Amino acid sequence: MDNITRICRKCGQEKPLSEFVRDKTCASGYRHTCKQCDREWRRKWDAENAEKRRERKRKWYAENAEKRRERKRKWYAENAEKRREWNRKWYAENPEKCREWNRKWLIAHPEKVREYKRKYYLANAEKFTERCRKWRIANPEKCRERNRKRGINDCKSLTDRYLRDKLRRNNLPITPETIDYKRIQLKLYREIKKQTDYERN
Ligand SMILES: [Zn+2]
Repeated sequence: MDNITRICRKCGQEKPLSEFVRDKTCASGYRHTCKQCDREWRRKWDAENAEKRRERKRKWYAENAEKRRERKRKWYAENAEKRREWNRKWYAENPEKCREWNRKWLIAHPEKVREYKRKYYLANAEKFTERCRKWRIANPEKCRERNRKRGINDCKSLTDRYLRDKLRRNNLPITPETIDYKRIQLKLYREIKKQTDYERN
């Protein structure tokens, strides 16, 4: 059979019959194009169609994005109670994992935590003030001790509270700028004092 040859209509090369696929629809019983040309054609067709398929898919997603979002939203709304129930159950069954997730979330979102705390405090300000007042009345000793410690720390760290108090005592205006100014002034003063103390000894 190898000595019978055939010319490929595509590449024009003369090749043995074994290089052509059998095809009963052709008069000769073999395809007009050689196996290699067939392979190349198939590869090209696949590549072109893959691109077309991708393009169609992309278009479909773009055209249906709104619809899909809407469907998702509806599903969530319809299953809200079910989801809440499922979540509750899951949380109850996985307390360790939940705590771990919460801990990670809190670390990853410090600004959200601050905002949440601030809002919570504002919403419950009266309750907090009242609770603090009661605590102070019930624990005069602890209160004094805490104030003393706080005072030492404020003085050492030059906190806003400490600086506001200083300004108030000197009848100076209390603004963010004057607070900053006072802080710089006190820092300088302390540095100089430290230096002179050192030189004296
Ligand atoms: Zn060929």
